[in-house]
Amino acid sequence: IVSRESHKQDSIIDVRGIPVGGNQIQVIGGPCSVETPEQMNLAAQQVSSAGCRLMRGGAFKPRTSPYTFQGKGRDGLGIFRKAADKYNLPIVTELMDVRMLDTFLEHDVDVIQIGTRNMQNFDLLKEVGRTNKPVILKRGLSATISEWLMAAEYIAAGGNHNIIFCERGIRTFETAYRNVMDVTCVPVLKRETHLPVIIDPSHAGGKSWMVPSLARAAIAAGADGLLVEMHPNPCEAWCDADQALSPQEFTDLMCSLKGIAQVI
Ligand code: PEP
Ligand code: MN
Repeated sequence: IVSRESHKQDSIIDVRGIPVGGNQIQVIGGPCSVETPEQMNLAAQQVSSAGCRLMRGGAFKPRTSPYTFQGKGRDGLGIFRKAADKYNLPIVTELMDVRMLDTFLEHDVDVIQIGTRNMQNFDLLKEVGRTNKPVILKRGLSATISEWLMAAEYIAAGGNHNIIFCERGIRTFETAYRNVMDVTCVPVLKRETHLPVIIDPSHAGGKSWMVPSLARAAIAAGADGLLVEMHPNPCEAWCDADQALSPQEFTDLMCSLKGIAQVI
C-alpha cells in the first residue's frame, strides 16, 4: 500500500486542513515535552508567530533512564490541547502505549507520533492503523529503509493510509553528534513511496547550533517538512535542552527556509 507502485502520485496528508506533502513545506515546531501551561502557552504563541502551522510536544516521554522526567502524561495532553487551540495549531504528540490510544482520541490529538523506539512495536502500529488519524512514523534508531517501509505497511494494512515518514537520525560509529541525519533517505523514500517524508534535525544533531544547517539540508534534499524542537527558554527545558532552539532562533530558521524553498 505504501509503495510507489501502488500509487504513482505523491500523497498529501490532510491535517485539519493543513497539507503535509505536495508543494508546501510544513514545519512542526514546539518543545520536546509539555511542562507547564505557561510554557506551552508561550511556545504556542511563538510557534504561531514564527509562521509555523503545526505544533509538537510530548506528554509521554520515552526516556533512556527511568529516573528522569517521564512526561506529564494525561494532564500534559490537556495542557497542550488548550494552549494550541488558542492559536488554532493542530497538535503532534507521541503515543507509546496502546492503552493510551482512547485518551489520545478523546483529546482529539491531530497527529499521532510513533517514536523511534516503537517503530517496530507491531501491536501499536496495528492499533493506530485502525484509526483515521495522521501518523508520523519515525525511523527506528537502527532501522533499514525496508524495515521502515514495512512498519508503515503495518499501519496502512489496517486501513489508515495517513502516514508521514520522519527521519530523525540513525546510529553509526560517529560520536561527535547525537545521531547521523540520513539525508540520503529522502530521495530513496521519494522513489519507494508516495507518502510524505519529513526530517527531525533536532534529534539528529542533538545540539541547537547544528539544527539550522541540518534543517536547510533536509529541505534542499526534497523533504516535505521538518519536526523541530524549540523552547521559550531552552536553558530551562526539562528534556533535550541542548537541542532546543530559542524563539528567535526558531523564527530565524523559518525565514531562512523560505529562501531555500523559493530557490527550488
Ligand atoms: C521526540 O520527538 O520527542 C522523540 C522522543 O523523538 P525520537 O523518537 O526520534 O527519539
Ligand atoms: Mn526530544
